[in-house]
Amino acid sequence: MTEVPDGALSAAISPAQEWPAATHFDIPAMLAQGWRPSPFTEFVVKIASRCNLDCDYCYMYHAADQSWRAQPKLMSLDTVAMLGRRIAEHATSHSLTRVGVSLHGGEPLLAGPGYIDEFATILRSALPEDCEMSLVCQSNATLITAEMAKVLQRNQIRVGISLDGDREANDRHRLYRDGRSSFGAVMRGIDTLRSLDESLFSGVLTTIDLRNDPLATFQQIVALDVEHCDLLLPHANWTTPPPVYGARSATSYADWLIPIFDRWYEQPRQPLQVRIFRDLMNLLLGGVGGFEMVGYGPVTLLSIETNGSIELVDTLKTAYEGATATALSVNGSPLDEALLHPGVVARQIGLDALAAQCLDCRFRDVCGGGMYTHRYRAGSGFKNPSVYCADLYALIAHIETRLHADLSALNGVTR
Ligand code: SF4
Repeated sequence: MTEVPDGALSAAISPAQEWPAATHFDIPAMLAQGWRPSPFTEFVVKIASRCNLDCDYCYMYHAADQSWRAQPKLMSLDTVAMLGRRIAEHATSHSLTRVGVSLHGGEPLLAGPGYIDEFATILRSALPEDCEMSLVCQSNATLITAEMAKVLQRNQIRVGISLDGDREANDRHRLYRDGRSSFGAVMRGIDTLRSLDESLFSGVLTTIDLRNDPLATFQQIVALDVEHCDLLLPHANWTTPPPVYGARSATSYADWLIPIFDRWYEQPRQPLQVRIFRDLMNLLLGGVGGFEMVGYGPVTLLSIETNGSIELVDTLKTAYEGATATALSVNGSPLDEALLHPGVVARQIGLDALAAQCLDCRFRDVCGGGMYTHRYRAGSGFKNPSVYCADLYALIAHIETRLHADLSALNGVTR
């Protein structure tokens, strides 16, 4: 099931030559044959390049790419204004009626309430009248004060919060630089946000740690009474494999997720949307789309670094130094130029980006090779199955079995 390219290649091939390099595409020919890139609709904007926590799995600070060190601590308001103009011209030239911006970091709330206020005002006022901008903020929640919450509310910025479960689970990774737990500050931040406006708390991002009990983790998330939850596989690839924590079966991550799926699926209603389950069910039932973790629909996401550089999806920082770089900046280039970057094209060509094993896989149209970031192998690049291939296969097979059983039963009842 898994394609394992020749590891010996890694010594001979530099990242610039790996798939997808410019030499792998004849873009003029693709355009002549009718292929068109999909415009960017989602922007991850790194307004702050530093963080007040030091989570040991962070892909910004503890991964292969260390480019954050050369970034200014905050995005200047001049760069914010230029970014607003770039998004506006992109929206106009592609007739976009909606774009999404995620305030990101590091920890974006390090910028302070006054900055967040100005940022939202500058970006929204740059847009054409017929284009709406939704703003979200991805935060560790420790800096949410009453004043910050009011600014977020005034600017309709909903907040996604990183939380790995209960105190013990969270303290495995999400600590201050001096080793203190962040759990109490996170929970206070959530309370502050909710006491002002329940709807500001949009969801939780939980990175899986196999040492945590899956159902206890799920219960902690359910107890937050939140709308959305992302259960994230730790960022890893064939060169930097996933954490194993002692004995690991070939499907440890699926084995961890399946009890949660069963608990979630068996509820009469699912007020909590668990994105990976929802997307896999949708794709199994013949739907299209999916988010970055599964499916092979076009990815229309772009990252903007604190200095204004235009970059590929930020989780690629786990692959190698410079993996997200495009050599473009909002200060010198329209966003359309990035549409023809090989790293963007590779995310928009569907099946042509998949490895041979994925093309032959029974779950090709559901899994879609898994998250692009997790396909990397030094020496060959990103045209590999996910390093989580066995886990994804097992999880999808389990969900398929449950769906088929219920649909068959339903069929029997209605006949
Ligand atoms: S589509 Fe997914 S499950 Fe199938 S071979 Fe590729 S990575 Fe593995």
